[in-house]
Amino acid sequence: MSNYGPRRIHRCDRCGKESAWGPNWSWYGNEFDHENDTVAKFCSEKCKAGTPTPLAIVRAKRRGER
Ligand SMILES: [Zn+2]
Repeated sequence: MSNYGPRRIHRCDRCGKESAWGPNWSWYGNEFDHENDTVAKFCSEKCKAGTPTPLAIVRAKRRGER
């Protein structure tokens, strides 16, 4: 889980907030996405809940579109 250490800045795929990973953050994807940094990331439960299709974000990242 080194990619999710405290020093790296992550961007919320819902609201665009940029911050270090924190206890309210969560990600969506599989191990492949985790290794390739194509997971969808959310800064809060609100952002996560407001994204009904996180898989669409993951797929776009896999294609290099975002
Ligand atoms: Zn957010």
